[in-house]
Amino acid sequence: MYSAQAVAVITGGASGLGLAMAKRFAAGGYTTIIVGRNAERLAKAKEEIGKQVFTYVCDLTQFEAIPGLVNTILADHGHVDVLINNAGIHLKKPMQEIEHTEFLRVIETNLVAPFVLSREVARHMLSRHQGHILHISSMAAQYGIPQVMAYTAAKAGIEGMTRAMAVELSPHGIRVNCIAPGFIETDMSSGALDNDPERKARVLSRTPMGKLGCPSDVAEAAFFLSSPAARYITGEILRVDGGNAIGF
Ligand code: NDP
Repeated sequence: MYSAQAVAVITGGASGLGLAMAKRFAAGGYTTIIVGRNAERLAKAKEEIGKQVFTYVCDLTQFEAIPGLVNTILADHGHVDVLINNAGIHLKKPMQEIEHTEFLRVIETNLVAPFVLSREVARHMLSRHQGHILHISSMAAQYGIPQVMAYTAAKAGIEGMTRAMAVELSPHGIRVNCIAPGFIETDMSSGALDNDPERKARVLSRTPMGKLGCPSDVAEAAFFLSSPAARYITGEILRVDGGNAIGF
């Protein structure tokens, strides 16, 4: 399906789920490009994974910088086969305390940046009639979770955008999918759960598998969805959640 040396771009690839995905794609033979704001953390991830990883520093909310980022990646590596829009931020606060600027920051990071990056990469993928774009949603888009208003709005938007992109791009050979992770042990989930034992107990009690997931659970699903084995799958929202979304 992909050219001899497949290239994957993973945003937020220096930590958490993105780092696990970067490890999986690098192990699977991809030239693996990770993007984030923190050069030091990116360099550390490269050191940990190996020379098939390339790092690009970019604040993806600087939307005007994204076309230049994609052009640089294409100039350096020739093509992009897989784009994973994983970078994201969380905001946990009662809704009456959320400033509109905070709300916008979450929407810009978690929804607008994935759109702009997908648009730029899709222009390139359309010229090759192939590629896979993978978005990352959340349980917040599957059911109501209090105190995560902006995050929920962004993730619900990502799921809608997955379907809209899939119907627009799939006729041209580009598949578009989304993973909705359940509660996975990373810095982000620790921030939301560690100081809130009641919420953590609730998460576990409604997760039939009775435990949090680990980043590699999501990485394996991302690798499968991006592989030729998933060639007839597009527009899918795949939950990787230990059953959390269907738990009682
Ligand atoms: P982390 O906080 O560990 O990672 C988020 C990554 O996003 C960081 O590497 C960060 O890098 C990058 N990032 C944030 N803002 C920007 C920006 N403006 N420009 C470029 N990069 C940015 O979180 P997780 O690994 O837990 O989350 C990854 C994704 O998975 C997110 O979309 C999240 O919403 C989703 N998710 C996570 C769940 C979980 O349980 N952990 C559950 C459901 C969904 P840097 O700071 O260097 O820029």
